[in-house]
Amino acid sequence: MADATLVAGAAQLGIELEERQAAQLVRLLDELDDWNQRMNLTAIRERGAQITKHLLDSLSVQRFLQGERVLDVGTGPGFPGLPLAIVNPTRQFTLLDSTAKKLKFIDHVVGLLELPNVQTVHTRAENFRPAQRFDIVVSRAVGPVEQFVKWAGHLCVGGGRLLAMKGRHPAAELEKLPSGWKLAAVHRLNVPALDEERHLVEICRSHERL
Ligand code: SAM
Repeated sequence: MADATLVAGAAQLGIELEERQAAQLVRLLDELDDWNQRMNLTAIRERGAQITKHLLDSLSVQRFLQGERVLDVGTGPGFPGLPLAIVNPTRQFTLLDSTAKKLKFIDHVVGLLELPNVQTVHTRAENFRPAQRFDIVVSRAVGPVEQFVKWAGHLCVGGGRLLAMKGRHPAAELEKLPSGWKLAAVHRLNVPALDEERHLVEICRSHERL
C-alpha cells in the first residue's frame, strides 16, 4: 500500500503520484530491503528515512529536469535515477555506475517494475562515450562538484545542465570550476518531512546566456 508520507510529500513537490507509480516506489524500497540483506546497498534501513532520504530526496529535483534524456552519474542502487524514471515515463534515463553489483540490483528492479525508460551502464563516467549526449546529467553524493564536472561535462549537450545534489551549501567546491563551465544557480531544496539542508548546484557551459 502507498505510504501517506510519500504521496503527500510528492504532492508538495508538485508530483501527483498515480497509484501505480506510488506502488512502484514502495516496491523499490521493498526490493532494496531484500537485497540489502545479502549485499550492502544502503545504510538507510528504516522505512520512514528511506521514504524521505531516498524517494522524496530524489524527487525533489523533478522541477529542474529538462529535455528527454537524463543521465544519473554514480547512481549506486538507483538514486535519484529510479524514482525519477518512475514518475517520468516519457523521459529516457541512463543510470551509470562503476560498481557492477549495484547495477545488477537496478536491472532486477527495472525488470520487476517494467520500466522500459531505464537503461544501465557499467563504466566510469570519465570513460563513457555515448552515441548521444544528455539534456540533464545529475549526480547525488558522488564527490566534489569540480570533479563531477571534469568527469561528466562531456556527457552534457549544449544548452543542457549538470545538476549536483548536495547537503549543505557547497561554497568551497564552487570556487574553481573547470574552464568552459559556470555556475548557473544554487537552489535550496525543501525535501518534505526532512529536517536537513539540501542544495542543488546547477552548472552550464560558460558561453551560454543564463
Ligand atoms: N547516487 C547514489 C545515492 O545517492 O544513493 C550513490 C552514491 S554513492 C556514495 C557513490 C557512487 O558513485 C558509488 O556507487 C560509486 O560506485 C559511484 N562512482 C564513484 N565514482 C564514479 C565514477 N567516476 N564513475 C561512475 N561511478 C562512480
